[in-house]
Amino acid sequence: MKLDTRAMRHLTAEDWRVLTAVEMGSKNHEIVPTPLIEKIARLKGGASGVHKSISALAKAGLIARVKEAKYDGYRLTYGGLDYLALHTHAARKHVYSVGSRIGVGKESDIMVVADDRGTQKVLKIHRLGRISFRTVKANRDYLKNRASGSWMYLSRLAAIKEYAFMQALREEGFPVPEPIAQSRHTIVMSLIDAVLLRQISSVPDPASLYADLIALILRLAQHGLIHGDFNEFNILIREDKIEADPDPDADQPATTITLTPILIDFPQMVSMDHPNAEMYFDRDVACIKRFFARRFHFESTAPGPFFADAKKTVGRGGARRLDAAVEASGFTKKMAKDLEAAIREQQQQASAKNGDADDSDSEDLEEDESGEEGTTSEEDDGRDGEGEGEGSHVIIGDHVPVLENGEGLQMQKLTINDGT
Ligand code: ADP
Ligand code: MG
Repeated sequence: MKLDTRAMRHLTAEDWRVLTAVEMGSKNHEIVPTPLIEKIARLKGGASGVHKSISALAKAGLIARVKEAKYDGYRLTYGGLDYLALHTHAARKHVYSVGSRIGVGKESDIMVVADDRGTQKVLKIHRLGRISFRTVKANRDYLKNRASGSWMYLSRLAAIKEYAFMQALREEGFPVPEPIAQSRHTIVMSLIDAVLLRQISSVPDPASLYADLIALILRLAQHGLIHGDFNEFNILIREDKIEADPDPDADQPATTITLTPILIDFPQMVSMDHPNAEMYFDRDVACIKRFFARRFHFESTAPGPFFADAKKTVGRGGARRLDAAVEASGFTKKMAKDLEAAIREQQQQASAKNGDADDSDSEDLEEDESGEEGTTSEEDDGRDGEGEGEGSHVIIGDHVPVLENGEGLQMQKLTINDGT
């Protein structure tokens, strides 16, 4: 499922209104009946205006007619939700243009975007539920009683949670991107101009980088948190050149290069009080150990760190409990539980599909995207395949070097004609 903004310029103010009406209607209806869309949209042109917009939106793949329904109705597609979120980001002046996709994860699309001053940022679009609900019957049962499209609910939860954690971590001085905005299933954050750990073949001092990463795990623990997916795909390494004290005799100023790890990807973070906290903690530590051993042939002589020791440090030195802070910010236990179940489900399916849950270090890890989009025929977006210029295989986390002034990046200006 790729974000395709091309239809945006053709949408009229009425179309936006109708799209918004379908979104509002889907809060209480899985399939929004056409009369309800008419009622919410209240267009001046009356029913015929609404029908015109409905067909324009359906043609652009932003809503989809549901044929199996007992009544005539429409549901919002991922494309429709993407447009609504972009519309909000554009109205708030966070996003002016959309560039290329820099990453495709199992649960998200990552795009470079820019504001009207050309400052590049990252738009992360959460796509939870796009695997789960096609194949797994149990999921359908589990979600049967949920109002509104489950994928919409779960993807929104992922974005809300990620944004809340990014804010809390940032406030506490953790090296994470700056959270800029959140709308529906998307977040806008600062673009980190750094290289994924995964793409680094050697470092001058592996021991020191390893120590920094372990320190980061322990610092999170002190604040009550476990990242839960602490691996080479979620750690960016920034190179900072520091000029040493100028030596009057030297021809060139001496510079030292420091490597700073920056952490991303927070939807699966858990509290140190989680019933499986020890498993998550150990897994994060093991990931880093394994990666350093394989990639840099570095093995620490020190055992651990161990969960029991980390647990004793929670809150120590007045460290603010960020797990509690996030809960207080409105991400409730119930939301956490719903999201956790969905993420677990998705991970299980992904590993069943890859035949190996732990192949993250295999050299050519590729994600077969082709089977993941859409869901059942009734839920087909109708936009699949269209405009897919990159082939069906995308290397996860393919790093696109960020160029000055957006040069080389095809940025597409968002034209939003909503009458405002
Ligand atoms: P997922 O949940 O799908 O794994 P991530 O948040 O890990 O998504 O992002 C996927 C990839 O996109 C990352 O591996 C990284 O290469 C890139 N990426 C994500 N956020 C940023 C950012 N703020 N700056 C630069 N690159 C990013
Ligand atoms: Mg990731």
